[in-house]
Amino acid sequence: MNNYIDLRSDTVTQPTQSMRDAMYNAEVGDDILGDDPTVKKLEKISADILGKEDALFVTSGTLANQIAVMTFTNRGEEVIVGNTSHIYNLEVGALAAISQVQTRPIDVENGYYDIDKMENLIQNKGIQNAKTGLICIENTNNLNAGFIVPIENINEVCKLGKKHDIPVYMDGARIFNAAVALDIEVKDIVKNVDAVMFALTKGLCAPFGAILAGDRKFIEKARWIKQRLGGGFRQIGFLAAPAIVALETMIPRLKEDNKNAKLLGERLAGIEGLDVNVDNIHTSILTASVRGLPITINEFLDKLKENKIKAKRISDDRFRMVTHLGVGEKEIEQVIKVVRKIINDI
Ligand SMILES: *Cc1c(COP(=O)(O)O)cnc(C)c1O
Repeated sequence: MNNYIDLRSDTVTQPTQSMRDAMYNAEVGDDILGDDPTVKKLEKISADILGKEDALFVTSGTLANQIAVMTFTNRGEEVIVGNTSHIYNLEVGALAAISQVQTRPIDVENGYYDIDKMENLIQNKGIQNAKTGLICIENTNNLNAGFIVPIENINEVCKLGKKHDIPVYMDGARIFNAAVALDIEVKDIVKNVDAVMFALTKGLCAPFGAILAGDRKFIEKARWIKQRLGGGFRQIGFLAAPAIVALETMIPRLKEDNKNAKLLGERLAGIEGLDVNVDNIHTSILTASVRGLPITINEFLDKLKENKIKAKRISDDRFRMVTHLGVGEKEIEQVIKVVRKIINDI
């Protein structure tokens, strides 16, 4: 493959040998006709893990999010979204372009939603108001952070939703990173949300797909919308098979990713001039700033790359690193050695 230590994202993970074997040997059928046994199995396992009635295998987290919004809302309604959320920032305007809703963003402080502020954003049902049709929360809370949303906070959001009769949807792309960090079952995190999505292609290392889950009625409608968008599958069991392997084998090891991100963050924080807030590393994502150093972020990242290390630029002075299956203690030592050298040589 390549000999880079690639810390840009956990999406760079390669499928394991057992995933490749499972792909090769998968039993498949026409999924639109409901005939793919491997997809059925994946959806059943996923629903059980999440403690929801039913689940749906979809192309991507992005599509899962849009299907969820389209299932819950009507054209012209408002959706409350976190200001740093993926659905608001990184989905090519799909909320407007495809789902045809408008957004009402809320600040999210280190993964915490202020309930009073959220309640104030709910639109009154006056003649001139767009009705608030959905509240979208995100866990872990992203845009380069990976913050864990406290369970009490999730439950407060859900209580607010109930009070106003507004469904609550969780974009849980990296929800398993939160679950293993809290040492609880993922179903205990998502118990009160009406629907949830998680990504198979991040720390779980599967090559494809995401899962959307909720009650039977929600998934029935979601399946129909998925089909409308051209997202129906035929013999996709070949890609459901590695996802099953991911769910059966890769969840507990996410603990390692979280631990390694903390370790890497602590070691980077020990290098003079680098600014790392170790307390903000909740899961597998860390960010650091080169603001205190006489080097630009681009020069710094170029030098890392010359030394076979990739990280992602996220602002004028800040980069992020994400740990995953391909990053162990050996790789962390190498990163620290290289960063030290780059800074010493400035
Ligand atoms: C990665 C991610 C998505 C999108 O998933 P894709 O499969 O890449 O489309 C959505 N939400 C969050 C929070 C993510 O991290």
